[in-house]
Amino acid sequence: MNSNAVIAIHGGAGTILRSALSASAEADYHAALTAVLSAGQRVLADGGSALDAVSEAVRLLEDCPLFNAGHGAVYTSAGTHELDAAIMDGRTLEAGAICCVKRVRNPVLAARRVLERSEHVLFTGDGAEAFAAAQGLEFVDNSYFDTDARYRQWQLACEQQRPMLDHDGATLAANASNRQEPTPHEPIDPNRKFGTVGAVALDVHGHLAAATSTGGVTNKQVGRVGDTPLIGAGCYADDATCAVSTTGSGEMFMRMVAAYDVAAQMAYRAVSLDEAAHDVVMNRLPKIDGRGGLIAVDARGNVTLPFNTEGMYRGFARPGAAPVTAIYR
Ligand code: ASP
Repeated sequence: MNSNAVIAIHGGAGTILRSALSASAEADYHAALTAVLSAGQRVLADGGSALDAVSEAVRLLEDCPLFNAGHGAVYTSAGTHELDAAIMDGRTLEAGAICCVKRVRNPVLAARRVLERSEHVLFTGDGAEAFAAAQGLEFVDNSYFDTDARYRQWQLACEQQRPMLDHDGATLAANASNRQEPTPHEPIDPNRKFGTVGAVALDVHGHLAAATSTGGVTNKQVGRVGDTPLIGAGCYADDATCAVSTTGSGEMFMRMVAAYDVAAQMAYRAVSLDEAAHDVVMNRLPKIDGRGGLIAVDARGNVTLPFNTEGMYRGFARPGAAPVTAIYR
C-alpha cells in the first residue's frame, strides 16, 4: 500500500481581473474545488484506482457550471458547444480521448470508455458520439451546456471578432474600462481565462492517472481542436514518471507536447517532478507565447501546480487531510 496517495485538480488558468474580485465569488470557487477534491479523496481512501479518482473528479467538474467543461462550456463561433476530453492510465499506458462532441453529457466518461472498450485511442465528432451512444452514455441537447455567463462572454468575443485569448495587460485594462463587466462573479476574468478542467492522482496501489476536459476557447472556429484530447499535449500518465493535466493556450501546448515533456524530462534528464514541470511552464512554453499551467503528481506523491498566468483554479488532497485549494499566486 502506498501511503502517499493524492489527487490534484485544476479548473483553468488565466488573468485575474482584480475589479471582479468578490469574497463570495472566491468562496464559491473554493467550495466547488473542495467538494470535487473531497470526492476524489474518498475514492482513493476506499482503495479505488487513480483512474477512478480522476474520472470522478473530472465528471464533477464537468457538471459544475463555474468551469469551462461540460455544463458551462464556452461557445464556438457558430454559437454551439464542442467538447474535448482525454484520460490516461499510468499503470498500462492505455489512453482514451474524444473531441468535437456536441451531445455527450460527460465527455470524460466517453474518453474512459474509449480507453477501456476500444482498440483505438481518439474518436472525433459523429464517430465519437456514435461510440458513446453504443456504450449507453447519457446524451443531452447541445443547449444543456449553455450558461448566461459564457453566452455574454461569447457575444463580447463576437464584437471583437476574435477568439478570446488575449493576455496583454494593457488590452485587458482598456477593454475592462470600455465595456460592461460580462461576468462580475468570476475572480479570474473569463475572457482571458483558459478554461479547462483536469485531475491527476496517485492511488494507494502506487498507480498514476490523468484526465482533462474542456469546451475549448470562446469563439473558436467550428472543428477546432486544442491540446486537451491529445495524449502527450493536454494529458499524460506513466507510472514510471508522472501524471499531468494541462490548461492554457492549446495550440502552444500542442506544439510543445507539454504534458509529455514533463514526463520525458524526468525520464531522460533525471530531474524532479517540480523541476521538469517548472521548466515546461516557466521556460519552454513562454518561448512561443504559451500561457497557462499544469498540475502533476509523481509516483512518490509529490505534487506540483505551476502556472505562468496570474491565477489558476487548483487544489490537492491526500486521504485523511483537509483539501488545499488556491486561485491566485
Ligand atoms: N487548452 C484548452 C484548449 O486549447 C483551453 C484551456 O485550457 O482553457 O482547448
